Amino acid sequence: MKNELLEERKGQIHTVGESPFDMACNRESLAGAVSQRACVFCGSRVVLYPIADALHLVHGPIGCAVYTWDIRGALSSGPELHRLSFSTDLQERDVIFGGETKLEAALVELIERHQPKAAFVYSTCIVGLIGDDLEAVCRKVEERFGIPVMPVQSEGFKGSKREGYLAACKAMNRLVGTADTTGISPLSVNIFGDFNLAGEIWIIRKYLERMGVEVVANVTGDGRVADVQRAHGAALNLVQCSGATLDLAKMMEEEHGVPHVRVSYLGIEDMADSLYKVAEFFKDIDPDIERRTSELVREELEALMPKLAGLRKDLEGKRAAIYVGGAFKAFSLIKAFRHLGMKVVLVGSQTGTREDYRELATITDPGTVIIDDANPLELSKYIKEKDVDVFVGGVKERPIAFKLGVGFCDHNHERKIALEGFIGMYNFALEIHASAMSPVWNFMPRRRGRAEGTVDSGARGPEGKGCPPCAATAGGAS
Ligand code: SF4
Repeated sequence: MKNELLEERKGQIHTVGESPFDMACNRESLAGAVSQRACVFCGSRVVLYPIADALHLVHGPIGCAVYTWDIRGALSSGPELHRLSFSTDLQERDVIFGGETKLEAALVELIERHQPKAAFVYSTCIVGLIGDDLEAVCRKVEERFGIPVMPVQSEGFKGSKREGYLAACKAMNRLVGTADTTGISPLSVNIFGDFNLAGEIWIIRKYLERMGVEVVANVTGDGRVADVQRAHGAALNLVQCSGATLDLAKMMEEEHGVPHVRVSYLGIEDMADSLYKVAEFFKDIDPDIERRTSELVREELEALMPKLAGLRKDLEGKRAAIYVGGAFKAFSLIKAFRHLGMKVVLVGSQTGTREDYRELATITDPGTVIIDDANPLELSKYIKEKDVDVFVGGVKERPIAFKLGVGFCDHNHERKIALEGFIGMYNFALEIHASAMSPVWNFMPRRRGRAEGTVDSGARGPEGKGCPPCAATAGGAS
């Protein structure tokens, strides 16, 4: 295959086993390479947006707000103010004379109309250029209405999406520690880094309830301002997703002494390990918590494992590609694919760190391609070259998969099926099965090449069986 890689990108692509690990990452995206990444502002908005009773006002041209509106369809069990998208819609006149007056007027009108519990005001590129004083406007409106009004310093040009996560954490940290914590149980946690895209937080909260642990705040899926304000009263922060909220966890550790542990609710081992980590943390104040946790895990696995075995029969030997926002999620997905007998041949992320990639290189098989800040050209090249059966990604990766005639599983903002927890592992397996086994892919030229023996098909399970009855009778998300 001819080499389609851009010379400047070669340091950000590594093939496991071909050379010593030496991966470049955390770089600005290459101009002209059409990165799959988003901007700083988008990064901050996707983190804060699920706080459902806050006002989210984008200070900038309308395009920035449209670009990020509802891309994370975070579910709320109550208010849904977050589902509305507000923008100051800056025009040429505002760019010349400044947009502060317009911002103040927009905030006043929206707060009077919607009575939010707090407001987040996002700075976009143009605001950074014209120099509007967001801090001053927010302070003035905060004094007038008596609710927290927080500027989010997220000018799009400031760096990569990762900088947006930091801007979001700094804004949230202004809320933490501002409310009374009386009555919080000594066995209490905050759930960090989950966005409740398909109700996952409700699954995790139920597990924790069964263990006897109180959840003080969801940060940020199904989030509430008042909960974030008293989050410092929790005994422990559970941090999922390395990028989004780890900075806030570190700030809380430093300022309020709340420790954190890294967790993942995806897949079997990581879900169980996460619960055991909580039990381990609280075992001195509640010696029975370890027994309750083991019982919970045993019950869930007894129900799950026989169902997975049926799906694995068809999926054994198939090949998967993974492209996700934060690399942390990829670790769990690789393990989840192993339970289905599948091989991960390509794995990449938008914002992984050197340590993340080093770990990926350790847990993947020789020949696996690891890629940082990919673009459609590179993803297409490796999907074809590695003869992938199913691609796990987000909204921007879906068309790449379908154009290449490859099964796709949305594991990002747009998904509607809960993929976390033990039930989530089953839903994931069902979705992978339905997508990878669909007979439609047999009509692709790529498949014909495989049948004719012109493409290396590796060790694979039987092809073209179609979807078994289990796909039709899926229990679906809880
Ligand atoms: S890069 Fe700048 S102009 Fe583009 S969406 Fe982000 S903030 Fe808006």
